[in-house]
Formats: sequence, structure tokens, C-alpha cells
Amino acid sequence: MARIGFIGLGNMGSGMAANLAKAGHDVRAFDLSAEALGRAESNGCKRAGSASESVAEAEAVITMLPAGRHVREVYESSVIGTAPTDAILIDCSTIDVATAREEIGKAKGQGYAMVDAPVSGGIAAAEAGTLTFMVGGTPDAFERARPFLDLMGKAVIRAGGPGAGQAAKICNNMLLGASMVATCETFVLAQKLGLDLQTFFDIASKASGQCWSMTSYCPVPGVGPATPADRDYDGGFAAALMLKDLRLAMEAAQSVDAYTPMGAHAEELYSRFSNRGGASKDFSAIIKMIDDSWTAQGK
Ligand code: NAD
Repeated sequence: MARIGFIGLGNMGSGMAANLAKAGHDVRAFDLSAEALGRAESNGCKRAGSASESVAEAEAVITMLPAGRHVREVYESSVIGTAPTDAILIDCSTIDVATAREEIGKAKGQGYAMVDAPVSGGIAAAEAGTLTFMVGGTPDAFERARPFLDLMGKAVIRAGGPGAGQAAKICNNMLLGASMVATCETFVLAQKLGLDLQTFFDIASKASGQCWSMTSYCPVPGVGPATPADRDYDGGFAAALMLKDLRLAMEAAQSVDAYTPMGAHAEELYSRFSNRGGASKDFSAIIKMIDDSWTAQGK
């Protein structure tokens, strides 16, 4: 049993911390929200009075925070210099590559091993312990983080050195955002051309247009497997989070002078969709903006 300091018990962190506690670890949990702390306690974690208290005497520190500024603030004020230097530091938040590298560098300067380990998979995967972790850090830091990540995920893959986990995450999500927009406009066109949408799904799933956004996450209600489209686009992966990831991808592209026209267009579309009130809907709901008058065939 290891002592783990866990900071950030929101939608994702709550299920992740619960899985570590379920595996028998001594999880000292902290969040700014009293409600999140109460939930963690009822899931078998111990409530810490502050971030510093949660990491004191920890063998591992895990953070699941909203964005880069929260990660910087928590690591610089409460983790680096407070946790024992032999603790492995694991940041699972999705943040910009530059901040991830900076914090790993600062931690290293004080004698800590740290990895960036963002996740793919939503709240259900966090609760079920079936997340995919993309990890950036030295091989040694990766091996030290892996036993903890294994308890929260079904796949734990080292992407490369510090920041590589974040780079893999934003590249993956840029592809996802662009492919979802392409899937949505394709189904709108198919319907306007008079195709039966389930029949088109059956054809394209077996043809060269096949992609995850269609076969596993079809934006059309009643077509393909059960998806957020079947519950009026509630739950799932919020358009606001997709927009956040696309913005991170565009920032990263600019920093290395990469030409990403599809990613840039997807960012613009998700920004417009969020401004029009779609931010909290699942990201596949963007089909409603691609054609304002669109209603799924047969609905
Ligand atoms: P969330 O907003 O539900 O949770 C974040 C938690 O951090 C909140 O409970 C908040 O109170 C806490 N927090 C903020 N600042 C803090 C501080 N200084 N000290 C302690 N606690 C603090 O967010 P989430 O949905 O759990 O997402 C967390 C991260 O995971 C984000 O980076 C997100 O992009 C990423 N992510 C989310 C999903 C998803 O489906 N929700 C999927 C993959 C990745």
C-alpha cells in the first residue's frame, strides 16, 4: 500500500482517486470544492485540509486539474519542495506542452521525477478504470508511474520525453475534432442526397471513409452504436473541452510553425458552436450547427 496525494477531484479525478483507494492505497485527497472532497471521502479516500497536506509523506502525487495555470500554481506552491523528493509526480491534466515541460524541469531541478500523463476516455472510463494514458518523461520516471496508472487505465503508453504525453494528446484530439466535423457534414450531405442514413453508415463503415467518429461515436441519433446523439447530445465529451484541446493544438502548431488548416478550421467551428450555446453539449452536437435546419432522418 502506498501513500498517494491526489489533487483535483472533479469529473475525472473523482473516479480515478476512487480506483486507487479501491486497490488498497492510502489516498490523501484535496480539492478546492467541499462537495468534491465529500465525494472522495465516500469513495474511500482520506480528506486532506490543503494541497500541501495531501502530498506530505506521499510516495506518489497525482494531479487532475483544469488547465496549465492551475497545474503551475499547485506544483509551485504546494508540491515541489513540499512532497518528499523520492515521490513520483504525475500530472494527468490536459495542459499546454510548454507548461508541462517547464514544471517537469522545475521538479527535476529540486530532485523529483515527474511525468505528464494526460488521458483519453471520459468520465465513464475514469470511473471504470479503463482510461488510456499517454505519458511523457524519462524511461525511469515512466516505470515508477506505471503501477499507479495501471490501476486507473487499460492502456499506459510512453509517448517520449517530458511533454510528449501532452503532445500526443493534443495531436489525437485535433484529429478527433476534425474527423467529427467531417463525419457530421458527410451525414448532412448523405441525407440531402436522399440516402438512408443507417444504410450509408453500414456502407461507409466497411469502406475507405471509415473512422472512429463515425463507427464508435456516430453523431446521428439512432444510427450505429448507442452514443450521446441518442440522448440529445447530453453527457459524453463537452464541446467546450474539445475547443480547449483544439486551442492547445493551435498554440502548439504555432510554436513549431506547423501548418494545420483542418485543425484551425475545426477550432473556429467549435468556437462558434460554443458561443452559440453548445459548450456543454457533447462535441458531436456540432452537427446541429453544420446545418441549422438539420433533423435526423426518421426523427
Ligand atoms: P473538473 O473541472 O470537473 O475538475 C477539476 C477539479 O480541479 C475541480 O474539482 C476543481 O475544484 C479542482 N481544482 C482547481 N484548482 C484547484 C486547486 N488549486 N487546488 C485543488 N483543486 C483544484 O475537470 P475534469 O473534467 O475532471 O477534467 C480535468 C482534466 O482532465 C482537464 O485538464 C480536462 O481537459 C481533462 N480531461 C477531461 C475529460 C472529460 O471527459 N471530462 C476527458 C479527458 C481529459
